[in-house]
Amino acid sequence: MRRPTQNNSLPSVPSPMESKKLIVAGSALALPALLLQSYFHGNGYSLLHSYSLGMFFGIISYSLLSLSVITSCRIKWIEKIFGQDKLIRFHGITAGIAFVAALFHLVFKLKFNAEPSVQIATGMAAFSLFALLSIMTHLFMIRSPLRKLIPTKILETIAIRYNTAKTLHNGMILMFTLVIIHVLFAWSTAEQSLRMVAIHLTGWGTILCYLNFRIIRPMNMPRATVTAVTACSPSMISVTLRLEQPLQWSAGQFAYLTFSKSSAGREEHPFTIASAPHQSNEIEFVIKKSGLFTERLANLAVGTGARIDGPYGTFTPSADAPLLFVAGGVGITPFLSILRQWVSEQKVLTNPVMLIWSATTESEIPFAEELRAMERILGKFSVKTFLTREQNGARITGSDIIAAIERLRETASPELWFCAPSHLQDLVLSAGKTAGVKRRAIHFEKFTS
Ligand SMILES: Cc1cc2nc3c(=O)[nH]c(=O)nc-3n(C[C@H](O)[C@H](O)[C@H](O)COP(=O)(O)OP(=O)(O)OC[C@H]3O[C@@H](n4cnc5c(N)ncnc54)[C@H](O)[C@@H]3O)c2cc1C
Repeated sequence: MRRPTQNNSLPSVPSPMESKKLIVAGSALALPALLLQSYFHGNGYSLLHSYSLGMFFGIISYSLLSLSVITSCRIKWIEKIFGQDKLIRFHGITAGIAFVAALFHLVFKLKFNAEPSVQIATGMAAFSLFALLSIMTHLFMIRSPLRKLIPTKILETIAIRYNTAKTLHNGMILMFTLVIIHVLFAWSTAEQSLRMVAIHLTGWGTILCYLNFRIIRPMNMPRATVTAVTACSPSMISVTLRLEQPLQWSAGQFAYLTFSKSSAGREEHPFTIASAPHQSNEIEFVIKKSGLFTERLANLAVGTGARIDGPYGTFTPSADAPLLFVAGGVGITPFLSILRQWVSEQKVLTNPVMLIWSATTESEIPFAEELRAMERILGKFSVKTFLTREQNGARITGSDIIAAIERLRETASPELWFCAPSHLQDLVLSAGKTAGVKRRAIHFEKFTS
Protein backbone atom coordinates (compact mmCIF):
# COMPACT_ATOMS: atom_id res chain seq x y z
CA MET A 1 0.00 0.00 0.00
CA ARG A 2 1.43 3.37 -1.03
CA ARG A 3 2.13 5.80 1.76
CA PRO A 4 2.35 9.48 0.84
CA THR A 5 5.88 10.80 0.83
CA GLN A 6 6.75 13.53 3.29
CA ASN A 7 8.51 16.71 2.28
CA ASN A 8 11.07 17.41 4.98
CA SER A 9 13.17 19.83 2.97
CA LEU A 10 11.21 23.04 3.62
CA PRO A 11 11.12 24.65 7.05
CA SER A 12 7.50 24.91 8.19
CA VAL A 13 6.22 28.49 8.39
CA PRO A 14 3.49 29.07 10.98
CA SER A 15 0.10 29.75 9.37
CA PRO A 16 -1.64 33.09 10.17
CA MET A 17 -3.91 31.13 12.57
CA GLU A 18 -0.93 29.55 14.34
CA SER A 19 0.69 32.99 14.65
CA LYS A 20 -2.55 34.39 16.15
CA LYS A 21 -2.61 31.46 18.60
CA LEU A 22 0.96 32.20 19.68
CA ILE A 23 0.27 35.93 20.12
CA VAL A 24 -2.92 35.44 22.16
CA ALA A 25 -1.48 32.60 24.28
CA GLY A 26 1.72 34.64 24.86
CA SER A 27 -0.28 37.72 25.91
CA ALA A 28 -2.37 35.61 28.31
CA LEU A 29 0.72 34.18 29.95
CA ALA A 30 2.20 37.67 30.20
CA LEU A 31 -0.48 38.56 32.79
CA PRO A 32 0.99 36.52 35.69
CA ALA A 33 4.47 37.66 34.63
CA LEU A 34 3.45 41.35 34.69
CA LEU A 35 1.74 41.07 38.07
CA LEU A 36 4.74 39.24 39.54
CA GLN A 37 7.01 41.93 38.13
CA SER A 38 4.89 44.67 39.73
CA TYR A 39 5.26 43.00 43.15
CA PHE A 40 8.83 41.79 43.10
CA HIS A 41 10.75 44.20 40.87
CA GLY A 42 13.33 46.15 42.86
CA ASN A 43 11.69 45.79 46.28
CA GLY A 44 14.32 43.50 47.70
CA TYR A 45 12.01 40.65 48.66
CA SER A 46 13.74 37.33 48.56
CA LEU A 47 11.62 34.80 46.75
CA LEU A 48 12.88 32.07 49.04
CA HIS A 49 11.41 33.76 52.10
CA SER A 50 8.11 32.16 53.05
CA TYR A 51 6.39 35.57 53.08
CA SER A 52 7.43 36.21 49.47
CA LEU A 53 6.49 32.68 48.51
CA GLY A 54 3.03 33.33 49.93
CA MET A 55 2.74 36.42 47.79
CA PHE A 56 4.13 34.61 44.75
CA PHE A 57 1.45 31.91 44.96
CA GLY A 58 -1.24 34.51 45.67
CA ILE A 59 -0.34 36.46 42.52
CA ILE A 60 -0.23 33.28 40.41
CA SER A 61 -3.64 32.28 41.76
CA TYR A 62 -5.14 35.76 41.16
CA SER A 63 -3.90 36.08 37.58
CA LEU A 64 -4.84 32.52 36.59
CA LEU A 65 -8.30 32.98 38.08
CA SER A 66 -8.71 36.09 35.97
CA LEU A 67 -7.65 34.17 32.83
CA SER A 68 -9.95 31.31 33.77
CA VAL A 69 -12.97 33.62 34.06
CA ILE A 70 -12.13 35.45 30.81
CA THR A 71 -11.86 32.20 28.83
CA SER A 72 -15.30 31.15 30.07
CA CYS A 73 -16.87 34.32 28.63
CA ARG A 74 -17.18 32.99 25.03
CA ILE A 75 -15.31 35.93 23.50
CA LYS A 76 -15.92 35.41 19.79
CA TRP A 77 -12.53 36.46 18.37
CA ILE A 78 -10.64 34.31 20.90
CA GLU A 79 -13.02 31.38 20.29
CA LYS A 80 -12.43 31.62 16.52
CA ILE A 81 -8.69 31.16 17.10
CA PHE A 82 -8.75 28.29 19.61
CA GLY A 83 -12.23 26.73 19.49
CA GLN A 84 -14.63 26.52 22.42
CA ASP A 85 -13.51 23.03 23.51
CA LYS A 86 -9.88 24.11 23.94
CA LEU A 87 -10.93 27.27 25.76
CA ILE A 88 -13.05 25.25 28.19
CA ARG A 89 -10.07 22.94 28.78
CA PHE A 90 -7.84 25.98 29.40
CA HIS A 91 -10.54 27.40 31.71
CA GLY A 92 -10.44 24.19 33.78
CA ILE A 93 -6.64 23.86 33.84
CA THR A 94 -6.05 27.49 34.88
CA ALA A 95 -8.73 27.18 37.58
CA GLY A 96 -7.09 23.96 38.84
CA ILE A 97 -3.63 25.56 39.06
CA ALA A 98 -5.17 28.68 40.63
CA PHE A 99 -6.71 26.48 43.34
CA VAL A 100 -3.42 24.74 44.18
CA ALA A 101 -1.62 28.11 44.18
CA ALA A 102 -4.33 29.54 46.49
CA LEU A 103 -3.78 26.62 48.86
CA PHE A 104 -0.02 27.29 49.00
CA HIS A 105 -0.74 31.01 49.41
CA LEU A 106 -2.95 30.23 52.40
CA VAL A 107 -0.37 27.90 54.00
CA PHE A 108 2.48 30.43 53.69
CA LYS A 109 0.41 33.46 54.65
CA LEU A 110 -1.18 31.99 57.76
CA LYS A 111 2.28 32.05 59.34
CA PHE A 112 2.26 35.85 59.24
CA ASN A 113 -1.36 37.04 59.40
CA ALA A 114 -3.41 35.46 62.10
CA GLU A 115 -5.22 38.59 63.36
CA PRO A 116 -8.87 38.71 62.21
CA SER A 117 -9.40 41.35 59.53
CA VAL A 118 -11.57 42.04 56.48
CA GLN A 119 -8.67 40.95 54.33
CA ILE A 120 -8.36 37.56 56.05
CA ALA A 121 -12.14 37.07 56.22
CA THR A 122 -12.60 37.70 52.47
CA GLY A 123 -9.61 35.49 51.67
CA MET A 124 -10.88 32.60 53.81
CA ALA A 125 -14.45 32.97 52.48
CA ALA A 126 -13.16 32.99 48.88
CA PHE A 127 -10.98 29.94 49.46
CA SER A 128 -13.80 27.97 51.12
CA LEU A 129 -16.20 28.83 48.28
CA PHE A 130 -13.51 27.94 45.72
CA ALA A 131 -12.96 24.54 47.39
CA LEU A 132 -16.68 23.79 47.67
CA LEU A 133 -17.51 24.74 44.08
CA SER A 134 -14.45 22.93 42.72
CA ILE A 135 -15.51 19.69 44.45
CA MET A 136 -19.06 20.13 43.12
CA THR A 137 -17.71 20.75 39.59
CA HIS A 138 -15.51 17.64 39.71
CA LEU A 139 -18.32 15.45 41.01
CA PHE A 140 -21.20 16.64 38.84
CA MET A 141 -19.91 18.48 35.77
CA ILE A 142 -16.77 16.84 34.44
CA ARG A 143 -15.28 13.37 34.02
CA SER A 144 -12.97 13.62 37.01
CA PRO A 145 -10.95 10.96 38.90
CA LEU A 146 -12.39 12.52 42.07
CA ARG A 147 -15.67 10.74 41.32
CA LYS A 148 -13.94 7.39 41.88
CA LEU A 149 -13.16 8.35 45.49
CA ILE A 150 -16.82 8.81 46.39
CA PRO A 151 -19.09 5.74 46.74
CA THR A 152 -21.53 5.55 43.80
CA LYS A 153 -24.48 5.33 46.24
CA ILE A 154 -23.62 8.74 47.70
CA LEU A 155 -23.20 10.27 44.23
CA GLU A 156 -26.55 8.83 43.13
CA THR A 157 -28.27 10.13 46.26
CA ILE A 158 -26.99 13.67 45.78
CA ALA A 159 -27.32 13.46 41.93
CA ILE A 160 -27.07 17.13 41.02
CA ARG A 161 -28.12 17.65 37.36
CA TYR A 162 -25.49 19.08 35.04
CA ASN A 163 -27.50 22.24 34.54
CA THR A 164 -28.03 22.80 38.28
CA ALA A 165 -24.31 22.22 38.81
CA LYS A 166 -23.59 24.75 36.05
CA THR A 167 -25.77 27.36 37.80
CA LEU A 168 -23.98 26.72 41.10
CA HIS A 169 -20.64 26.86 39.28
CA ASN A 170 -21.44 30.47 38.33
CA GLY A 171 -20.94 31.22 42.05
CA MET A 172 -17.24 31.28 41.13
CA ILE A 173 -17.70 34.92 40.09
CA LEU A 174 -18.74 35.77 43.65
CA MET A 175 -15.62 33.94 44.82
CA PHE A 176 -13.47 35.98 42.41
CA THR A 177 -15.06 39.25 43.64
CA LEU A 178 -14.11 38.26 47.21
CA VAL A 179 -10.59 37.55 45.96
CA ILE A 180 -10.34 41.05 44.42
CA ILE A 181 -11.41 42.64 47.73
CA HIS A 182 -8.96 40.39 49.60
CA VAL A 183 -6.07 41.44 47.33
CA LEU A 184 -6.98 45.15 47.41
CA PHE A 185 -6.96 45.09 51.23
CA ALA A 186 -3.46 43.62 51.35
CA TRP A 187 -0.94 46.22 52.50
CA SER A 188 1.60 44.97 49.96
CA THR A 189 -0.86 45.92 47.17
CA ALA A 190 -1.42 49.40 48.57
CA GLU A 191 2.34 49.85 48.96
CA GLN A 192 2.75 50.93 45.32
CA SER A 193 0.31 52.73 43.04
CA LEU A 194 1.43 50.67 40.01
CA ARG A 195 0.48 47.45 41.80
CA MET A 196 -2.83 48.94 42.88
CA VAL A 197 -3.63 49.91 39.27
CA ALA A 198 -2.56 46.48 37.95
CA ILE A 199 -4.74 44.65 40.49
CA HIS A 200 -7.74 46.94 39.89
CA LEU A 201 -7.45 46.61 36.10
CA THR A 202 -7.05 42.83 36.16
CA GLY A 203 -9.85 42.25 38.68
CA TRP A 204 -12.53 44.68 37.56
CA GLY A 205 -11.65 44.15 33.89
CA THR A 206 -12.40 40.46 34.41
CA ILE A 207 -15.68 41.23 36.20
CA LEU A 208 -16.74 43.59 33.39
CA CYS A 209 -15.95 40.91 30.84
CA TYR A 210 -18.17 38.48 32.80
CA LEU A 211 -21.02 41.00 33.16
CA ASN A 212 -20.88 41.68 29.43
CA PHE A 213 -21.10 37.91 28.81
CA ARG A 214 -24.01 37.38 31.19
CA ILE A 215 -26.07 40.56 30.80
CA ILE A 216 -25.18 42.75 27.80
CA ARG A 217 -24.34 40.14 25.14
CA PRO A 218 -27.58 38.08 25.52
CA MET A 219 -29.62 41.21 24.65
CA ASN A 220 -28.10 41.22 21.15
CA MET A 221 -28.20 37.51 20.43
CA PRO A 222 -30.06 36.32 17.32
CA ARG A 223 -33.67 35.31 18.00
CA ALA A 224 -35.60 32.56 16.26
CA THR A 225 -39.00 30.86 16.33
CA VAL A 226 -39.68 27.12 16.36
CA THR A 227 -41.38 26.15 13.09
CA ALA A 228 -41.35 22.34 13.37
CA VAL A 229 -40.63 19.59 15.87
CA THR A 230 -40.62 16.09 14.42
CA ALA A 231 -39.50 12.70 15.65
CA CYS A 232 -36.78 11.38 13.37
CA SER A 233 -36.02 8.18 15.31
CA PRO A 234 -37.22 6.62 18.58
CA SER A 235 -34.57 8.63 20.47
CA MET A 236 -34.05 11.71 18.28
CA ILE A 237 -36.11 14.72 17.32
CA SER A 238 -35.54 17.36 14.70
CA VAL A 239 -36.19 20.96 15.76
CA THR A 240 -36.42 23.57 13.00
CA LEU A 241 -36.15 27.26 13.79
CA ARG A 242 -36.87 30.30 11.62
CA LEU A 243 -34.20 32.95 12.17
CA GLU A 244 -35.37 36.47 12.87
CA GLN A 245 -31.90 37.88 12.25
CA PRO A 246 -29.27 36.57 9.86
CA LEU A 247 -26.81 34.10 11.37
CA GLN A 248 -23.48 33.28 9.75
CA TRP A 249 -22.04 29.89 10.57
CA SER A 250 -19.83 27.20 9.10
CA ALA A 251 -20.95 23.61 8.69
CA GLY A 252 -20.01 21.61 11.80
CA GLN A 253 -20.44 24.47 14.26
CA PHE A 254 -22.75 24.48 17.26
CA ALA A 255 -24.81 27.01 19.19
CA TYR A 256 -26.23 27.33 22.70
CA LEU A 257 -30.04 27.33 22.52
CA THR A 258 -32.40 28.80 25.09
CA PHE A 259 -36.13 28.44 24.51
CA SER A 260 -38.42 31.02 26.04
CA LYS A 261 -41.65 30.02 27.74
CA SER A 262 -41.22 26.34 26.93
CA SER A 263 -42.18 23.38 29.08
CA ALA A 264 -38.53 22.30 28.81
CA GLY A 265 -37.46 25.29 30.88
CA ARG A 266 -35.24 28.27 30.12
CA GLU A 267 -32.00 26.32 30.32
CA GLU A 268 -29.18 26.95 27.89
CA HIS A 269 -27.90 23.83 26.07
CA PRO A 270 -25.39 23.38 23.23
CA PHE A 271 -26.49 21.69 19.99
CA THR A 272 -24.80 21.33 16.62
CA ILE A 273 -26.53 22.91 13.63
CA ALA A 274 -27.50 20.00 11.41
CA SER A 275 -28.61 21.99 8.37
CA ALA A 276 -26.30 23.49 5.77
CA PRO A 277 -25.26 27.13 6.11
CA HIS A 278 -26.64 29.81 3.77
CA GLN A 279 -29.47 27.55 2.56
CA SER A 280 -32.43 29.44 3.95
CA ASN A 281 -33.46 31.43 6.99
CA GLU A 282 -34.35 28.16 8.73
CA ILE A 283 -31.92 26.06 10.73
CA GLU A 284 -32.33 22.52 11.96
CA PHE A 285 -31.05 20.83 15.09
CA VAL A 286 -31.21 17.06 15.60
CA ILE A 287 -31.47 16.32 19.29
CA LYS A 288 -31.18 13.07 21.18
CA LYS A 289 -33.26 12.54 24.30
CA SER A 290 -30.52 12.10 26.83
CA GLY A 291 -31.86 13.74 29.99
CA LEU A 292 -34.57 15.89 31.50
CA PHE A 293 -34.25 18.88 29.16
CA THR A 294 -33.85 17.01 25.88
CA GLU A 295 -36.71 14.65 26.75
CA ARG A 296 -39.02 17.60 27.39
CA LEU A 297 -38.07 19.14 24.03
CA ALA A 298 -40.29 16.60 22.28
CA ASN A 299 -43.25 18.65 23.58
CA LEU A 300 -41.85 21.94 22.31
CA ALA A 301 -44.67 23.95 20.70
CA VAL A 302 -44.40 25.47 17.24
CA GLY A 303 -44.13 29.24 17.70
CA THR A 304 -41.89 29.02 20.81
CA GLY A 305 -39.22 31.70 20.79
CA ALA A 306 -35.53 30.83 21.06
CA ARG A 307 -32.27 32.67 21.65
CA ILE A 308 -29.20 31.48 19.78
CA ASP A 309 -25.75 32.00 21.23
CA GLY A 310 -23.31 31.05 18.56
CA PRO A 311 -21.95 29.82 16.32
CA TYR A 312 -18.98 28.25 18.07
CA GLY A 313 -16.50 25.51 17.27
CA THR A 314 -13.83 24.70 14.73
CA PHE A 315 -15.14 21.30 13.60
CA THR A 316 -15.22 22.27 9.92
CA PRO A 317 -13.22 20.03 7.56
CA SER A 318 -12.32 21.01 4.03
CA ALA A 319 -12.32 18.36 1.34
CA ASP A 320 -8.70 19.09 0.35
CA ALA A 321 -7.56 15.77 1.83
CA PRO A 322 -9.11 12.29 2.06
CA LEU A 323 -11.41 12.35 5.08
CA LEU A 324 -12.59 9.68 7.46
CA PHE A 325 -15.68 10.77 9.41
CA VAL A 326 -16.74 8.64 12.38
CA ALA A 327 -20.08 9.36 14.07
CA GLY A 328 -21.60 7.68 17.10
CA GLY A 329 -25.41 8.06 17.34
CA VAL A 330 -26.45 11.71 17.35
CA GLY A 331 -22.78 12.57 16.68
CA ILE A 332 -23.91 12.49 13.03
CA THR A 333 -25.13 16.13 13.27
CA PRO A 334 -21.91 17.98 12.33
CA PHE A 335 -21.35 15.59 9.41
CA LEU A 336 -24.94 16.09 8.21
CA SER A 337 -24.34 19.83 8.06
CA ILE A 338 -21.00 19.42 6.26
CA LEU A 339 -22.36 16.92 3.71
CA ARG A 340 -25.55 18.91 3.17
CA GLN A 341 -23.42 21.97 2.43
CA TRP A 342 -21.36 20.07 -0.14
CA VAL A 343 -24.56 18.82 -1.78
CA SER A 344 -26.09 22.32 -1.86
CA GLU A 345 -22.87 23.64 -3.45
CA GLN A 346 -22.96 20.74 -5.95
CA LYS A 347 -19.42 19.94 -4.93
CA VAL A 348 -17.56 17.29 -6.87
CA LEU A 349 -15.24 15.56 -4.43
CA THR A 350 -11.70 15.07 -5.69
CA ASN A 351 -10.58 13.22 -2.56
CA PRO A 352 -12.40 10.24 -1.07
CA VAL A 353 -14.57 10.85 1.98
CA MET A 354 -15.82 7.94 4.07
CA LEU A 355 -18.44 8.16 6.82
CA ILE A 356 -18.64 5.42 9.43
CA TRP A 357 -21.79 5.75 11.54
CA SER A 358 -22.44 3.61 14.57
CA ALA A 359 -25.99 3.44 15.92
CA THR A 360 -27.92 0.99 18.04
CA THR A 361 -30.63 -0.18 15.64
CA GLU A 362 -31.84 0.33 12.06
CA SER A 363 -34.48 2.78 13.30
CA GLU A 364 -31.74 4.94 14.85
CA ILE A 365 -30.21 5.84 11.48
CA PRO A 366 -32.86 8.30 10.35
CA PHE A 367 -30.93 9.93 7.52
CA ALA A 368 -29.91 6.71 5.77
CA GLU A 369 -31.78 7.54 2.57
CA GLU A 370 -30.42 11.06 2.41
CA LEU A 371 -26.90 9.69 2.93
CA ARG A 372 -27.34 7.14 0.14
CA ALA A 373 -28.43 9.96 -2.18
CA MET A 374 -25.33 11.90 -1.12
CA GLU A 375 -23.17 8.94 -2.16
CA ARG A 376 -24.57 9.29 -5.69
CA ILE A 377 -24.37 13.10 -5.80
CA LEU A 378 -20.92 13.60 -4.27
CA GLY A 379 -19.17 10.80 -6.14
CA LYS A 380 -16.24 9.89 -3.94
CA PHE A 381 -18.34 9.72 -0.78
CA SER A 382 -19.27 6.44 0.91
CA VAL A 383 -21.18 5.49 4.04
CA LYS A 384 -20.80 2.43 6.24
CA THR A 385 -23.13 1.86 9.16
CA PHE A 386 -22.61 -0.33 12.22
CA LEU A 387 -25.67 -1.40 14.19
CA THR A 388 -24.71 -2.54 17.66
CA ARG A 389 -28.06 -3.93 18.80
CA GLU A 390 -29.34 -5.60 15.62
CA GLN A 391 -29.12 -9.39 15.35
CA ASN A 392 -26.54 -9.36 12.57
CA GLY A 393 -25.08 -6.08 13.72
CA ALA A 394 -21.55 -5.31 14.85
CA ARG A 395 -19.57 -2.85 16.90
CA ILE A 396 -16.85 -0.72 15.34
CA THR A 397 -13.42 -2.09 16.19
CA GLY A 398 -10.00 -0.48 16.01
CA SER A 399 -9.26 -2.69 12.96
CA ASP A 400 -12.26 -1.19 11.10
CA ILE A 401 -10.89 2.30 11.64
CA ILE A 402 -7.34 1.30 10.67
CA ALA A 403 -8.60 -0.46 7.52
CA ALA A 404 -10.63 2.61 6.51
CA ILE A 405 -7.60 4.87 7.04
CA GLU A 406 -5.41 2.57 4.93
CA ARG A 407 -7.96 2.63 2.10
CA LEU A 408 -8.15 6.41 2.13
CA ARG A 409 -4.37 6.63 2.29
CA GLU A 410 -4.09 5.22 -1.22
CA THR A 411 -4.49 8.78 -2.55
CA ALA A 412 -2.94 11.03 0.15
CA SER A 413 -2.62 11.40 3.93
CA PRO A 414 -6.15 11.24 5.36
CA GLU A 415 -7.63 13.36 8.10
CA LEU A 416 -9.72 11.81 10.86
CA TRP A 417 -12.83 13.68 12.08
CA PHE A 418 -15.06 12.12 14.71
CA CYS A 419 -17.92 12.88 17.05
CA ALA A 420 -18.88 9.99 19.28
CA PRO A 421 -19.56 8.96 22.88
CA SER A 422 -16.45 8.71 25.05
CA HIS A 423 -15.81 4.94 24.66
CA LEU A 424 -15.97 5.16 20.84
CA GLN A 425 -13.99 8.38 20.91
CA ASP A 426 -11.16 6.65 22.82
CA LEU A 427 -11.23 3.73 20.38
CA VAL A 428 -11.10 5.94 17.26
CA LEU A 429 -8.38 8.16 18.71
CA SER A 430 -6.18 5.21 19.57
CA ALA A 431 -6.82 3.48 16.19
CA GLY A 432 -6.02 6.74 14.36
CA LYS A 433 -2.72 7.03 16.22
CA THR A 434 -1.90 3.36 15.57
CA ALA A 435 -2.58 3.90 11.86
CA GLY A 436 -0.08 6.75 11.92
CA VAL A 437 -2.48 9.68 11.44
CA LYS A 438 -0.68 12.81 12.64
CA ARG A 439 -2.17 14.47 15.74
CA ARG A 440 -2.81 17.68 13.79
CA ALA A 441 -4.90 15.66 11.27
CA ILE A 442 -7.12 14.27 14.06
CA HIS A 443 -10.15 16.38 15.00
CA PHE A 444 -13.00 15.55 17.33
CA GLU A 445 -16.06 17.18 18.83
CA LYS A 446 -17.19 16.16 22.30
CA PHE A 447 -20.92 16.29 23.09
CA THR A 448 -20.22 15.83 26.80
CA SER A 449 -18.19 17.81 29.28
C1 LIG B 1 -20.44 21.19 21.43
C2 LIG B 1 -21.65 20.34 21.70
C3 LIG B 1 -22.52 20.04 20.68
C4 LIG B 1 -23.63 19.22 20.90
N1 LIG B 1 -24.47 18.91 19.88
C5 LIG B 1 -25.53 18.10 20.09
C6 LIG B 1 -26.43 17.75 19.03
O1 LIG B 1 -26.28 18.18 17.89
N2 LIG B 1 -27.47 16.92 19.33
C7 LIG B 1 -27.67 16.41 20.59
O2 LIG B 1 -28.61 15.67 20.81
N3 LIG B 1 -26.82 16.74 21.61
C8 LIG B 1 -25.78 17.58 21.40
N4 LIG B 1 -24.96 17.90 22.43
C9 LIG B 1 -25.24 17.32 23.77
C10 LIG B 1 -26.35 18.10 24.46
O3 LIG B 1 -25.92 19.40 24.76
C11 LIG B 1 -26.74 17.38 25.75
O4 LIG B 1 -27.17 16.09 25.43
C12 LIG B 1 -27.86 18.09 26.45
O5 LIG B 1 -27.43 19.34 26.90
C13 LIG B 1 -28.32 17.20 27.61
O6 LIG B 1 -29.16 17.91 28.47
P1 LIG B 1 -30.25 17.14 29.36
O7 LIG B 1 -30.74 18.04 30.42
O8 LIG B 1 -31.28 16.55 28.47
O9 LIG B 1 -29.46 15.93 29.97
P2 LIG B 1 -28.57 15.84 31.28
O10 LIG B 1 -28.79 14.47 31.85
O11 LIG B 1 -28.76 17.00 32.18
O12 LIG B 1 -27.11 15.93 30.68
C14 LIG B 1 -26.49 14.86 30.01
C15 LIG B 1 -25.06 15.31 29.66
O13 LIG B 1 -25.13 16.36 28.67
C16 LIG B 1 -24.16 17.36 28.96
N5 LIG B 1 -24.87 18.62 29.22
C17 LIG B 1 -26.04 18.78 29.84
N6 LIG B 1 -26.39 20.07 29.90
C18 LIG B 1 -25.38 20.74 29.31
C19 LIG B 1 -25.14 22.12 29.09
N7 LIG B 1 -26.02 23.05 29.46
N8 LIG B 1 -23.98 22.47 28.47
C20 LIG B 1 -23.10 21.53 28.10
N9 LIG B 1 -23.27 20.21 28.26
C21 LIG B 1 -24.39 19.83 28.86
C22 LIG B 1 -23.39 16.90 30.17
O14 LIG B 1 -22.22 16.20 29.74
C23 LIG B 1 -24.32 15.96 30.85
O15 LIG B 1 -23.64 14.98 31.60
C24 LIG B 1 -23.86 18.73 22.21
C25 LIG B 1 -23.00 19.06 23.25
C26 LIG B 1 -21.91 19.86 23.01
C27 LIG B 1 -20.99 20.21 24.15
